[in-house]
Amino acid sequence: MLDKRQFYINGAWVDPAAKNDCDVIDPSNEEPCAVISLGGQADTDAAVAAANAAFEGWAETPAAERIGLVKKVLDVYTARAGEMAEAMSLEMGAPIDFAKTAQVGAGSWHISNFLKVAETFQFDQMLGDHAPSNRILYEPIGVVGMITPWNWPMNQVTLKVIPAMIAGCTMVLKPSEVAPLSSYLFAEFMDEAGVPAGVFNLVNGDGAGVGTQLSVHPDVAMISFTGSTRAGTAITKNAADSLKRVSLELGGKGANLIFADADDKAVKRGARHCFQNSGQSCNAPTRMLVQRDVYDDAIAIARETAEATAVGPASQSGRHIGPVVSEIQFDKIQGLIQTGIDEGARLVTGGTGRPDGMNRGYYVRPTVFADVNNDMTIAREEIFGPVLSIIPFETEEEAVQIANDTPYGLTNYLQTQDADRLTRVSRKLRAGMVEMNGDGLGAGSPFGGMKHSGNGREGGIWGLEDFLEVKAVSGWPA
Ligand code: NAD
Repeated sequence: MLDKRQFYINGAWVDPAAKNDCDVIDPSNEEPCAVISLGGQADTDAAVAAANAAFEGWAETPAAERIGLVKKVLDVYTARAGEMAEAMSLEMGAPIDFAKTAQVGAGSWHISNFLKVAETFQFDQMLGDHAPSNRILYEPIGVVGMITPWNWPMNQVTLKVIPAMIAGCTMVLKPSEVAPLSSYLFAEFMDEAGVPAGVFNLVNGDGAGVGTQLSVHPDVAMISFTGSTRAGTAITKNAADSLKRVSLELGGKGANLIFADADDKAVKRGARHCFQNSGQSCNAPTRMLVQRDVYDDAIAIARETAEATAVGPASQSGRHIGPVVSEIQFDKIQGLIQTGIDEGARLVTGGTGRPDGMNRGYYVRPTVFADVNNDMTIAREEIFGPVLSIIPFETEEEAVQIANDTPYGLTNYLQTQDADRLTRVSRKLRAGMVEMNGDGLGAGSPFGGMKHSGNGREGGIWGLEDFLEVKAVSGWPA
């Protein structure tokens, strides 16, 4: 069993102030694979103090030097990508090939994209020709507490750590206690890249402990959080007394609007996307809204796609999906599938229980429900498993109404060949992102939601500005 009990504070690996072991469970076989420590107040305080002490020097380091260090981080991340894939595969069950490509790749993609943004970003700008003595200065906000989930570990960590470094912030990262191994390794990468002591600190812990301690800490200027809406609400309340900036990336219940003139691959593409990462993506298109004329065909294709989706252990090579992350998630998903059946949705394929022949590991059957109405629990709650809910509609107005009738507003998807409809409907959808006809969002695009999906925008120039204060100065000498 791997021993990962230490924390990375002030440029050194240190023991926790008090012993508090927590097993990391391999979801493919339900066995402990590593042990970490859950930190307490003394560990949080030590990490925040180190970040605080390093802040002034780091904030004054020329941006070019900080960017140079990020390039070194990318070099180490690339050189040790194999180890990173192994860590994520083990901790959260991503099949190894998917871990190597999508999970590790998300991290390198974000680091490279932020480097591009940094090349042209002006930390010191003129206000405009009308006020030549006015300057706008972009300055780092201070010490940032970063709290991340387990489903796309390096995606989330790089979306926070890299822009914060470029901005000149110092930071304390608390990754998910369910999947802490990749962040532990990432801390080794930061050390190997030569990031100065105190700039980046890692403390493991749970939400009630280190998560809350960071949220209330008077010396933490900002919390950058990705995770559930429940935790986002708690953090916002806890951060209120110290008036922190709180940036939130929360859950989703994405609608995928499939009109009768959608391309032939639209349903298959949507179902595959829903099952990808075993359904554990905040932007998963989990509500498939299908126009009546093509409804029966869509159900048949979704069923075929689910039945062709193999499920297997994370260590096995191939294009299957892995287990879901934990017993808690497994039980939650099983309960929601049963609720779907009980509330009268039509189970097309899949259902409760493990796939045939599997009796250990948190494996879920790729499941399709049809005849779902938008008031059912499976249409309202984020399931976070490979479960697709198909909802029929007649008209464009009805489709938009159903899509927007959710507390969430992260990503919606739109499939139609009608150009006027694409532009019209994309404007009406209340979500931070709309992806149309399978065209993915490009490099430098902001990722984030509306309503209960949060208020942050990660990636691109917006993801950098999140970590910056804006200072207006007048009377600047010519
Ligand atoms: P979670 O909210 O339970 O945990 C996320 C992190 O928050 C963990 O590090 C946890 O320890 C910490 N935490 C929990 N309660 C806390 C509290 N009261 N105070 C401070 N920290 C606390 O979520 P999860 O189960 O790890 O992740 C799944 C959720 O994340 C889903 O809802 C998913 O949609 C969401 N998510 C959102 C995005 C996005 O960008 N919008 C991306 C990935 C995941």
